[in-house]
Amino acid sequence: MTSHQLSAPLSERIEIIVDKLKQTHPNATYELDWENPLQLLIGTILAAQCTDERVNRVTKSLFPKYPTAAAYAAAELSELEQDLKPTGFYRKKAQTVQNVCQVLLERFDGEVPQTMAQLVELPGVARKTANVVLNCAFSIPSGVIVDTHVARVSQRMGLSGQKNPDKIEQDLMKLVPQSEWVFFGPAMVLHGRYTCTASNPQCSQCVLIDVCEQKL
Ligand code: SF4
Repeated sequence: MTSHQLSAPLSERIEIIVDKLKQTHPNATYELDWENPLQLLIGTILAAQCTDERVNRVTKSLFPKYPTAAAYAAAELSELEQDLKPTGFYRKKAQTVQNVCQVLLERFDGEVPQTMAQLVELPGVARKTANVVLNCAFSIPSGVIVDTHVARVSQRMGLSGQKNPDKIEQDLMKLVPQSEWVFFGPAMVLHGRYTCTASNPQCSQCVLIDVCEQKL
């Protein structure tokens, strides 16, 4: 670690952080399996309190069974619950999926809308899920994805002193150029998942160690 880099203004540190993340995660993207915006939206809803690996196992058969918003909306709730059971909180998730798909049918012809304002109006959809869909499915820099990994890494690195995900996102949106938002969120997710882990972060192997304010 050089004291020079740590004492540099945040704007300079952010440039270094983005560059280093591009070297380590050049093709950073969300680790859910999906082939269209609806699948990414459903997968992201299911990923709450569940690993991406488990979601991917479930969606492998779920997506062919329910290929459209209309299919989810028309499903027997009890059957959908059983289909989602391995992802946990399956009753709530089944209800959310069905409610979301009902609104997609009623207001958007069954398609996933492409604006933040429309997405966060869907029942149970907050900014993180909306950003995942907009950033990854449509390459729209609507904001920065802030999940549990991005929140933790941002706090440790001194990029945000906030705890609320929306406030952390506001801090990151001020720091990171908008042209990098689509890359930055998924890259920070990967950095948090594999290096800056919740317990035992791999600081000695971390490419961001020179620009990390709160090195553990
Ligand atoms: S140096 Fe440690 S605390 Fe800082 S970002 Fe890297 S792994 Fe996380």
